[in-house]
Amino acid sequence: MLEDYFSILEKKAPARHWTCSHTSAGAPSLDGLGEEDLWPLHEAAMARWRESRGARAEPPPAAGATLLELKAALARRMLRSCRMCERRCGVDRTTGETGYCGVGAVSRVASNFLHFGEEPELVPSHTTFFSGCTFHCAYCQNWDIAMDARAGSPADPLLLADSLRDGMKQGSRNANFVGGNPDPNLHTILDTIIRLGGDGKHLPMVWNSNMYTSEEAMRLLEGVMDVYLGDFRYGNDECASRYSDVDDYFRIVSRNFIAARGQGEIMLRHLLLPGHLECCGDRIMSWAARNLPGVYFNLMFQYRPEYRAALYPEIDRRPSQQEKMGAVEAARRHGIALS
Ligand code: SF4
Repeated sequence: MLEDYFSILEKKAPARHWTCSHTSAGAPSLDGLGEEDLWPLHEAAMARWRESRGARAEPPPAAGATLLELKAALARRMLRSCRMCERRCGVDRTTGETGYCGVGAVSRVASNFLHFGEEPELVPSHTTFFSGCTFHCAYCQNWDIAMDARAGSPADPLLLADSLRDGMKQGSRNANFVGGNPDPNLHTILDTIIRLGGDGKHLPMVWNSNMYTSEEAMRLLEGVMDVYLGDFRYGNDECASRYSDVDDYFRIVSRNFIAARGQGEIMLRHLLLPGHLECCGDRIMSWAARNLPGVYFNLMFQYRPEYRAALYPEIDRRPSQQEKMGAVEAARRHGIALS
């Protein structure tokens, strides 16, 4: 489990983003090209990238624009009609418009530090918490930054890259992009990784997301993210709509987990909500057992009612001991080895 991740850390293989920065975009410059020009270049460059990754060859430096720069250019173009997540607001964030998440063209960072509270394989994890979120969960535990896209300070990719370098000197094992949610900040994340350059050759990148990422954004993440640290919260759309104000949840999130399986390594998190073992926990485990056999599965019991959970009496409590034991038993029944 997490073989790629550890081989990067042990310097047996470069991180994906490094090979992407050594793959040609297939054009000397990306200036003046629109999205419709850039996507075909991207697909062709990704085919070359997959080929060299498959051969496990370390590519020489690319001439002209790189695939990583091409991805960043596409992310910046997508700001003009935002489809970073599957809400697909279509707003032009470059002119000051904001969509559901409230995040502008300039991302904001609420905090950025070596985090020791993640899964043992990840810590210390250099975690960047962006402000704003594509979900509005009634029980959000980071509501002060997730619900306020103006929280924190404007993000500067140069400074963020410097901060990642400092973190590496202090022993960080990865760069972990979260929030809120990383999706509205994809352009900033890609620019930061470009600025980090070869210094990050053995620093794995972690996409720590609610997995409501758009198909286009998922395509840009391939070749950059080494680990998808993804939440799978709801086993049906009704619960997702009630507590997180989101539509078509199960189809989109399950689609993205399947895509992530082909793009990197997955660490799946399921936060057990009180009273939601049958409708959510059990269904997610059943799905994961069938579709992601052997997946890293973190069954999380730390739910506590926060933010506006009191408005929903059925989740205004912690999960009972009986529910926790029931969830562990469900995992055993589905053949899921808990991490
Ligand atoms: S990131 Fe998602 S929620 Fe935010 S503006 Fe873009 S499509 Fe809308």
